[in-house]
Order: sequence, then structure tokens, then C-alpha cells
Amino acid sequence: MRILIVGAGIAGPTLAYWLARAGHQPTLVERAPELRSGGYLVDFWGAGFDVADRMGIVPELQRRGYVIPEARAVDRTGRRLASIRSSSIMGAAGHYVSVARADLAATIYAAIGGAAELILDDTVIGIDDHGEGVHVAFERGPSRDFDLVVGADGLHSRVRQLVFGSDEQFERSQHIVVAVFDLPGYQPRDELVAVMYAEVGFQVVRVSLRDDVTMVVITARHDGALPLHDRAAQQGLLRARLAGAGWETAAMLEAMPRSVTFYFDAASQIRMPAWTRGRVALVGDAAACPSLLAGQGSALAMVESYVLAAELMAADGDHATAFARYQSRLGPFVKSKQDGARRLGVAFAPRNRLDVVTRNTAMRLMGLPKVADLVMGRSFHDAIDLPAFSPA
Ligand SMILES: Cc1cc2nc3c(=O)[nH]c(=O)nc-3n(C[C@H](O)[C@H](O)[C@H](O)COP(=O)(O)OP(=O)(O)OC[C@H]3O[C@@H](n4cnc5c(N)ncnc54)[C@H](O)[C@@H]3O)c2cc1C
Repeated sequence: MRILIVGAGIAGPTLAYWLARAGHQPTLVERAPELRSGGYLVDFWGAGFDVADRMGIVPELQRRGYVIPEARAVDRTGRRLASIRSSSIMGAAGHYVSVARADLAATIYAAIGGAAELILDDTVIGIDDHGEGVHVAFERGPSRDFDLVVGADGLHSRVRQLVFGSDEQFERSQHIVVAVFDLPGYQPRDELVAVMYAEVGFQVVRVSLRDDVTMVVITARHDGALPLHDRAAQQGLLRARLAGAGWETAAMLEAMPRSVTFYFDAASQIRMPAWTRGRVALVGDAAACPSLLAGQGSALAMVESYVLAAELMAADGDHATAFARYQSRLGPFVKSKQDGARRLGVAFAPRNRLDVVTRNTAMRLMGLPKVADLVMGRSFHDAIDLPAFSPA
């Protein structure tokens, strides 16, 4: 089948890889003019790690990525409150890596090895599913016909808007805004430690990475509209929101305009009753963004893409059957991840003093041997059996 995949992030190239393996002809269209590298780090583990393993890309992810051995909570003076070893949560098995989102995307794309067509600097502006196929209009290139179209175009998916309707129906605000930026040459450094400071309404995290780069992640409570396309307004909002915050916050905010990459968005979830309609399907954040609070969006994006491709293969091209199985196999699993992420919002941006005390106490307890595994261990093991993938 000729299958158009909109978006070459994490979900899109994963789907292209598995569709090509099954003998389909995938085409990826990406609105960015190039596939970038670097950007914010994602922790990558669980069933998504298993998919990466089946694609043979784990060694490359480990080469490009990091193992961050310690998460440390500090107070407004920088005094250590708690320290958690990642091995006590993840186990020592090495089924875990932190890697720049764009490096993960690039590694997946490289694994396709030219078996998918890639169109850069373009997007879809019209999707006409006429039952026998899908006629697609592009912003720049000529219109084309496909058998199926898959939206893998992230949280603000154009495909979802065109085929399923407006964002308001599906976007669930977590009332938290997230900003991530890198600070070359920032001091002080704690090599490969995630140092975390939280007060009522916000959390600031810094991670010292290779090449003298520090990554800063800010999550803050926010209600109302966000300036999504105006960087100066975004940075102004952060400065106002965190005015007077302790620890190193003032120095980080002062250095912020010098950052090379800057990410800013709402920490929303996407909740949809159905991820498919006719000959169109959604995967990844476009279908079911769990928000960064889940710490697992990339892994879920890969699982969804893998399962969709496996179900298409098992149904021998009967897309209606495959789409129904895709939804029923993953729906409850994804919902449980989204529900879990919502509960974690208080850790990323405590609502009140009690939340701050509870968060810090929980982190102290998790620093004790065995407690972390007892409390968190189960949530780090995905309750899903991946279907087999054995193309003819
Ligand atoms: C700050 C932050 C921290 C995170 N931390 C983690 C973590 O620790 N662990 C984890 O697993 N996940 C994490 N996530 C979530 C993770 O980044 C996403 O869930 C994951 O990237 C989703 O993959 P995707 O392919 O669905 O979407 P994306 O990665 O967003 O990719 C979508 C692609 O589609 C392209 N696109 C968008 N619109 C169009 C269009 N109209 N036409 C064509 N192309 C388009 C985009 O340019 C992009 O390349 C984090 C997210 C954030 C914001």
C-alpha cells in the first residue's frame, strides 16, 4: 500500500521503518526544512525501548545518549534535600537511556535506510478520504493519491484538525507550561546529575551534559492563553512567573536569551475516543499525547507505530480490521499512562505548600535502598505484550 505519514519526529519514522519491512511504500512529509539533531533530552525506556531493540538501534542510542545516574532535590539555598539513584528505579539491566529527542528521531530515520520517500519543507493542506483511497493536497508539492494517511505530526497535529476536528475537543490542559533551553558554558555544573528545585507553582531542573552544555527544564503552573509563537513574550512570561525564585533561577533566566535552542509549550494531553477514521489514522502525540509529565511520550509513540504496522500486516492490508485492533490493543494501556501522568503534575509544579512537602518527602524516601523500586518500580515496567512482527 502507498501510505502517507505526516511528521518525521519519533512516531513517523518508526512507522515508516515497520511499514517498509512489511513491503508497503511509505512516504514521510515533514514541515521542517531539515531533520535536526540535539534539543531537549527524553528519558527512553519501557516497551518503546523494546521496539528500539527490535529495530537494532539501541547501541546507537546509547552512543548518542546519556545515563543520568542521579536525580537530586535541592532547596532555595542549594542545600541537598534528597538524592535518587536511577539504577534503584530502572534496575541495573541498562534498559534505559536519556537521549536528545532529535537524536532519537534521526537514529530511527537512519534505520529506514532509504526505504521510505522523504519530503521536507512541506505539509498537508487537504485530506479527501473518498472511500477507495485518499486524495491529499500539499502546501508546496502537487496533490497525490494514497491508500492510507497517518498523522504523526505531534501535539498540534494538522491531520487531526483536518480529519477529526478542532483541538478543543481533544486537548486537555494540565495547567502547566514547560520551557526547555540549553546554556553553553553555564556554571556551576554537577556532571550528569539532574538537580531539581521546586517551590509552590514551579520546578526548575538543570542537567550538566557533554561539551559544557547545561539543559534547563522549567515547569510552571499557568492558566489561560500562552504566547506560542513569540519567543520574547515566552521568556518574559517565564521571568514574571519565576520572579524572586531561589536557588540559581535568577542566573538561569538571565542567561536564557543566549540559549541555542529554546522550547516552550503547554503540557497538554490529547484524549480522543478514536484514533482512526476511514482511511486515516493517528499515532504518537497526535493521537494520545500523554504530556511530558508521563516521561514516556517517545516510547509510547514508538509502541503505537509498531503496533499499527504489525496489525496492518496481520490483517493482510484490511485497514479497517487493523485500525480496530490497533485501538483496542493499545487504548487501555495508553489511558493508564495518561492517568498516571496527570497525578504526577503536582511533582512538576506543586499547587501549594503541602504539595512541596509531600514531593520532597517522597523524594527522600525514594533515596532509600529498595523503596524507590517498591514505589516506582512497577510503573516503570509496561503492562503490554508487543505483537510479533514477521513479514512474509
Ligand atoms: C520538555 C519535554 C520533555 C519530554 N520528556 C520526555 C521523556 O523524558 N521521555 C519521553 O519518552 N518523552 C518525553 N517527552 C515527550 C516526547 O518528546 C513526545 O511524546 C514525542 O516526541 C512524540 O513523538 P511524535 O513523533 O508523536 O511527535 P513529535 O516528536 O512532536 O514529532 C512530530 C513531527 O511532526 C512534524 N510536524 C508537525 N506538524 C506538521 C505538519 N503540519 N506537517 C508536517 N510535519 C509536521 C514536526 O516538525 C515533528 O518533526 C517530552 C516532551 C517535552 C516537550
